[in-house]
Amino acid sequence: MNDLTQCVFTPEVLANGFNPLGVGVHRASTIVFKDAAAYASRGDRGHEGYSYGLYGTPTTRTLEAKLTTLEEGAWSFLTPSGQAANALAVLPFLAAGDHILIADTAYPPMRELAETDLKRLGVEVEFFDPMSADDVAAKMRKTTKIVWCESPGSTTMEIMDLPKIAAIAHEHGAIVGVDNTWATPLNFKPLKHGADIVTEALTKFVSGHSDVLMGSITIKDTALLKPIRSLIGRMGIGVSPDDASLVLRGFETLGVRLRHSERVALEFARKIAAHPAVEQVLHPALESFPGHALWKRDFLGSSGVFSIVFKPEAAAHVATALDTLKVFAIGASWGGTRSLAAPMSIDGFRTATSWSGPGVILRLSIGLEDETELWADIDRLLAALVPEIDVSSEGPRSAAGRG
Ligand SMILES: *Cc1c(COP(=O)(O)O)cnc(C)c1O
Repeated sequence: MNDLTQCVFTPEVLANGFNPLGVGVHRASTIVFKDAAAYASRGDRGHEGYSYGLYGTPTTRTLEAKLTTLEEGAWSFLTPSGQAANALAVLPFLAAGDHILIADTAYPPMRELAETDLKRLGVEVEFFDPMSADDVAAKMRKTTKIVWCESPGSTTMEIMDLPKIAAIAHEHGAIVGVDNTWATPLNFKPLKHGADIVTEALTKFVSGHSDVLMGSITIKDTALLKPIRSLIGRMGIGVSPDDASLVLRGFETLGVRLRHSERVALEFARKIAAHPAVEQVLHPALESFPGHALWKRDFLGSSGVFSIVFKPEAAAHVATALDTLKVFAIGASWGGTRSLAAPMSIDGFRTATSWSGPGVILRLSIGLEDETELWADIDRLLAALVPEIDVSSEGPRSAAGRG
């Protein structure tokens, strides 16, 4: 071979005797075939074979296989973000005249997709109370194709009775999708509780380092494989193997990161709930939380994310109090190594239920910093919310001095 040919040729050096623990980054658009006949029959390779980079490389397939195992599903697809996973989980199953039921507390961009694009395509969109299986039953139509769930609800954490809602949906021939980002497949397995499709924003806890966007769709039954795979192909959607390798790397420490974050988050949630500036802490693992019994029945653990509803007199000072934070960063998304605080608007994202709390609540994501320093930050924030209340004699201070 001449030098110019050598420059673009990939010699085979990978195969024998090299067995690293990490997954290699296999970048590909073209995948070559040994002869013309193999190329002509490439369609016969099916969804498990390799035919073109868009449909998978060993790197992306490894990540998909990990997800399929943990979700206890039949197959998984990767998407460029968590919201892309949600969109691509519902689009293949909807046509003009169909009806979709969506949990009122679903991730807001999912509501917006329904209200703009699904409506524009002629789909009838309706929202339901996530706490009421009866509301789902009352709203089912002959044309209902999908019941879209998210448990707990985004930011406000409502726990859904998934087995009951799924049974109602299936009775009417609808499929059930669940956005499982909060719990991750370690702490909830929606496919075992009646869901047909589960999506994850791998962007959050699974990748775990706030440096990559990715989503996944896992299906319970291979009957759903073709509609999703072919739409993803027609829309030309794939993920970079480099990004998939970042997610695979984060995945290896998901277990310890999540166990740590959920323990610290629950300890903080209990202490914050006792503060005079606080109306309620929205965390499904708190015994006082509505839906706690359902969470205990179905989930294997909680998560590092919860929200705080302040009393009205304190809620007015949230913006200024946030500026006292020294360890928490202020920003959207969550599930990374850095703890985050984000004021969240609830008003305007509810139509089937009504939100009676303040316009803004505070969502915290607990990361991996020293917990004493994190608590000192929360302590400062709470003190700044209600300056006239002296909290110096309360539990939080002594906890802050622990280490
Ligand atoms: C963040 C999030 C998403 C979207 O993930 P991206 O990767 O940022 O698109 C979807 N669902 C839930 C519940 C989320 O919190």
